[in-house]
Amino acid sequence: MTDAVLGARRARLPPPPGHKFPLGKYRLLRERLVAEAVAAPDDIAASAPASWELLATVHASSYLERVRTGAMTDREVRVLGLPWSAALVERGRRSTQGTVEAARDALAGSGYGMNLGGGTHHAGRAAGRGYCLFNDLAVAVTELRRSAGFDGRVAVIDCDVHQGDGTAELFADDPSVFTLSIHGGANYPFRRAVSDLDVDLRDGVGDDEYLGVLSSSLDEVGGADLVFYLAAADPWEGDRLGRLALTKAGLAARDGVVLDRAAAWGAAVCVVLAGGYAPDVADTVDINLATARAVAERAAAQRSVRDPAARAE
Ligand SMILES: [Zn+2]
Repeated sequence: MTDAVLGARRARLPPPPGHKFPLGKYRLLRERLVAEAVAAPDDIAASAPASWELLATVHASSYLERVRTGAMTDREVRVLGLPWSAALVERGRRSTQGTVEAARDALAGSGYGMNLGGGTHHAGRAAGRGYCLFNDLAVAVTELRRSAGFDGRVAVIDCDVHQGDGTAELFADDPSVFTLSIHGGANYPFRRAVSDLDVDLRDGVGDDEYLGVLSSSLDEVGGADLVFYLAAADPWEGDRLGRLALTKAGLAARDGVVLDRAAAWGAAVCVVLAGGYAPDVADTVDINLATARAVAERAAAQRSVRDPAARAE
């Protein structure tokens, strides 16, 4: 079969602007995806930048104008946590469009799409926060509704260790989107918006407790036609910003719990990476790679089930 195993999308990245943000993980992940035959090079499509017009369907035009022209205030840059540069803006736009395209892949193809980036869940309507310039999830939902005729129910399953405040803010008044955030209760952000379901975990929570809480939280979500899964690496025990104690095996089990549940719902799944701040970036890449492998296996299995029907037509 020559079909793409994984409809992975990647955002092109500029060199790091001398910051701790682990830009290197994106290139390393792409290389390992190919080296370990999780994806062929041709399966990984570069993302175009999201248009300003599309971004304006979610974000305040005054905020976008300051981002576009480099006129962000000192306070805005502090809250964002990254210095402004044209390259940063370009990366944010490409990362956002990657989620749009991965969600389209999920709805149109095997039921799965993955952005090797994205999950910028702290960005609100008029503010970038916590390394997140634009909210890719909100932009993707808007775009799918606007141009792809999608009118189904959406569930955001946010397993980043930091609460998804921007996503909660942007979907607060949208009853068709269920936002679940499962995160460290004592961790950033310290001023929060309210998700449909927020789960505050205490510091040091490990695999068993996490997986139990995740499973019962998914019971409360109930179902969806499209799932956005933020498969972050930062709940890992060695993460610098995480404060939880999940092992790599526990994180792989977490992926399985979410993907199994989405399959049981009959939902298409768009997977995004979100955070990961291991001291050695290779550990973050290990975790992301395991997620991508799980997604690729499920996408391939879905195709093998579907192919006989396709030939019969
Ligand atoms: Zn995070």
